[in-house]
Amino acid sequence: MVNPVLAGLYIEGQWRSGGEQLTVINPSTEERLAIVTGGDARAVDDAVRAARTAFDAWSRTTGAARAIILRKIASGVAARREKLIALQSSNNGKPGFEAAIDVDDVIGTFNYYADLAQASDGQQNRAVELPSEDFTARLRREPCGVVGLIVPWNFPMVTTAWKLAPALAAGCCVVLKPSEVTPLAELELARIIADSGLPTGVFNVVCGTGLEVGAPISSHPGIAKVSFTGSNAVGVQVMQRAAETVKGVSLELGGKSSLIVLADADLDLAVELASGGGYFNAGQMCSATSRVLVANELLGPFLERIVAKAQSIKVGGPEDDDAEMGPLVNQAQYQRVIAHIEAGKDTGAQLLCGGKRPSDQPRGYFLQPAVFSHVPLDSALWREEIFGPVLCVRGFSSQGEAITLANDSQFGLVASVVGRDTETTERVANALQAGLVWINAPQVIFPQAAWGGYKQSSLGRELGPWGMQAFQEIKHVVRGV
Ligand code: NAD
Repeated sequence: MVNPVLAGLYIEGQWRSGGEQLTVINPSTEERLAIVTGGDARAVDDAVRAARTAFDAWSRTTGAARAIILRKIASGVAARREKLIALQSSNNGKPGFEAAIDVDDVIGTFNYYADLAQASDGQQNRAVELPSEDFTARLRREPCGVVGLIVPWNFPMVTTAWKLAPALAAGCCVVLKPSEVTPLAELELARIIADSGLPTGVFNVVCGTGLEVGAPISSHPGIAKVSFTGSNAVGVQVMQRAAETVKGVSLELGGKSSLIVLADADLDLAVELASGGGYFNAGQMCSATSRVLVANELLGPFLERIVAKAQSIKVGGPEDDDAEMGPLVNQAQYQRVIAHIEAGKDTGAQLLCGGKRPSDQPRGYFLQPAVFSHVPLDSALWREEIFGPVLCVRGFSSQGEAITLANDSQFGLVASVVGRDTETTERVANALQAGLVWINAPQVIFPQAAWGGYKQSSLGRELGPWGMQAFQEIKHVVRGV
């Protein structure tokens, strides 16, 4: 099969071929899907120039005008839903039902920020009460300028939509860098946006590697703000580069989150939520609740059931309608996760099931979901983000111990609590150092609610009004009367 060669640059309303050839693979088959041509610092410079030229007019459009375009993008995504699902599945390995959740999230996010953009017209020039009758004051929120958006491969279109929709809603112009691992769905999204009526230069895409494209975006003096989702190591580099020109930075980074199963929990629900929190997207989630803390009274039966559940999960590619979990995204990630599993065994942790290639999948980066117990608290398996289908289960003897164990991390992205007593679950949720806590609920995400975490998981918040404010400057106008 001849692979298509796709232009990876969309700059000033034109598709352009870049220089570097990025090979895009299908992780279920290990076959090449496409070649995408990537850009470099010069392409970033061209994109920033186009965006700065467009900014003057775009930043002065009304929220209502921007809302029309955001809704058009949402309906364009809805119209190409099946194609986008297929691209997400083939490029990322997600089963169809998971890819569908992603695409619907993108639609919901663009519609939500369309509403917020529209509502923002009525909120401009809000009067501010002052403790003096000699002055009046009004508050304006204005777009911060050209913004650079850098996204990862695990939820490609979703992480993009969470930045792009609020940035456009705020009136910013954009230079987007998709992950070089999964650019296909984003390139389709870019085609939809190209047809949406957005003025030329407002939205630009530069595909490429982190060093060739991500680094120049992070340091470009024409970019006012960088919004980055990815690993902590790279997030730190982005922040360091951005510091040179004192640009705004939002970071969505890693996690090592816990699910706490209290003594009065419904065990079936706990097993369901632990499985979803650990194995959705093959565990390649910043929000994976990869530490499962179980009240000692329930530990034995919980372990029995979670192992049975993990063993029952059908692992397979998106062409298999019965598949519940797809492959890891590429060979590097596959080897990284296997290395973590092997290193975990060397520390004395007990692998109760999984962690190997399924016997019916000779090709592709497939791994059976793993459950570990007896994981040492100072081991990498317990402390570091594994980013694969690996759960570490541990008992606790008191709620205080569970909270201490959960909070003992450099990260603080999310947490889950399972238990029947409302007062107790609320108290435990309030004590957890995490940006989002689910109680007796799967990892549902609403564009209205904030996304982001404590400690080294995040800088700032996405989604909700906070997501849009991240792309706005605040201006006060004070007048003497
Ligand atoms: P990554 O950090 O390797 O790459 C993320 C993006 O940064 C990619 O587009 C990459 O090309 C680019 N990049 C790489 N080097 C760069 C550099 N020096 N300068 C600028 N950009 C550079 O992350 P990944 O492997 O693609 O994604 C997995 C990571 O993302 C995990 O750590 C995960 O926790 C995190 N993540 C966080 C969230 C969240 O909301 N907190 C969501 C999804 C993923």
